[in-house]
Amino acid sequence: MTTRHVVVIGGGYAGLTAALRVSRSHRVTLIDATGTFTERIRLHERVAGLTGRPGTPATSVPLAELVAGRPITTVTARVTALAPGRRTVGTHDGREFTYDSLVYALGSRTDTSRVPGANEHAYTLEHAAELNGRLLDGRGVAVVGGGLTGVEVAAELAEAGGGASPVTLVTGGEPAPGLSAKGRAHVTATLERLGARVRAGTRVTAVHAGGLSTDAGEIAAGAVLWTASFAVPTLAADAGLAVDGRGRALVDAALRSVSHPDVYVVGDAARVEVPGVGELRMACATAMPAGAHAAGAMEEAARGAEPTPFRFRFLGQCVGLGRTDGVIQLVRADDSPYGPVVTGRAAARFNEWVNRYPLFSLRGERRRPGSYRWAKSRASGRTAPGTAAPADARPGS
Ligand SMILES: Cc1cc2nc3c(=O)[nH]c(=O)nc-3n(C[C@H](O)[C@H](O)[C@H](O)COP(=O)(O)OP(=O)(O)OC[C@H]3O[C@@H](n4cnc5c(N)ncnc54)[C@H](O)[C@@H]3O)c2cc1C
Repeated sequence: MTTRHVVVIGGGYAGLTAALRVSRSHRVTLIDATGTFTERIRLHERVAGLTGRPGTPATSVPLAELVAGRPITTVTARVTALAPGRRTVGTHDGREFTYDSLVYALGSRTDTSRVPGANEHAYTLEHAAELNGRLLDGRGVAVVGGGLTGVEVAAELAEAGGGASPVTLVTGGEPAPGLSAKGRAHVTATLERLGARVRAGTRVTAVHAGGLSTDAGEIAAGAVLWTASFAVPTLAADAGLAVDGRGRALVDAALRSVSHPDVYVVGDAARVEVPGVGELRMACATAMPAGAHAAGAMEEAARGAEPTPFRFRFLGQCVGLGRTDGVIQLVRADDSPYGPVVTGRAAARFNEWVNRYPLFSLRGERRRPGSYRWAKSRASGRTAPGTAAPADARPGS
């Protein structure tokens, strides 16, 4: 196999997995704006001020530490240009990197552009480090968005505030719509038990300094935390890669850009469709398998072999509801819920184990590239129970 130069842009779950795995056979440059791996799945804990203390899991780890000993050069810079015709990536500081293959893994960010005032007046999870418990100042916080992210952060804030700082969860539908009826009922009951007020079926029309305007009237709040929608960077579209209506790159079965096959797009930035499973949600649980698969596909391409199609199936959804409660929901391959749910302390413990799995796997991948495993759909498009990894799903919006 010819050794190639693989440039990976974005050192999150998808990009870091791809970089570590492909480094067993190729030279890698990993470019990330922050130079650290951010445990996005723990940002709600950080918002509530629960991390960064002795004995608590890290929410960010230097990329250099996670790739130590691998043939990977880390570069801390913001990617500002992509020229797929010339196979170059440009960074904010004027540097240019030439690649044989590119892994585009720039993830997503909270989208505050959809409702007037959200951009100016709402915090997002990207502010987690600076918030770090500060929302619990007694003035009250409104969390907007009833997806799992909004639910988890509302529960964490309500529990950490202990009633002294009112928390309201505002959602256009009902909280955790992807769960079964039993799962949804437990989420709402637990939020209320923790002291959070749930305003379901309430559409936010504007955000202002004093809280929210909604179709059901005003909601006063000292601070607003927006978790309702996520958007991807425009770099792929700007560079001429084929994208969908949300700007996510369209990829083929091997996760190559349909317009530029030497660009592999993985994680939240890609629109991935798996036969028999459907379109994958934005999730760490889908990003890591995609990153690992892209690495294998690049190796196959370097050998002159036809890359194998990406296979993935969902197994379950795990929701943390504070430190001592949660919901574990079995799901079918296509992420639809079925069967009973596990709740309470057992669910909280299992959820914590699932949350430790990504960083544990990345450290394992550094020591032994190829070691990370995930649940796979059948090659035919029918699905089979998977191999090893917990597959928690997380809606992107
Ligand atoms: C609070 C919260 C809880 C979550 N919990 C779960 C969960 O329990 N289970 C689950 O499966 N999913 C969960 N998710 C979703 C999950 O975190 C994302 O789907 C996942 O992070 C996507 O991985 P990624 O590698 O595509 O992107 P990211 O992890 O976001 O990584 C993208 C990387 O690209 C870098 N980057 C971006 N732009 C540039 C640029 N221009 N130049 C250079 N670098 C750039 C960023 O610095 C970042 O390191 C949660 C999300 C949130 C916000």
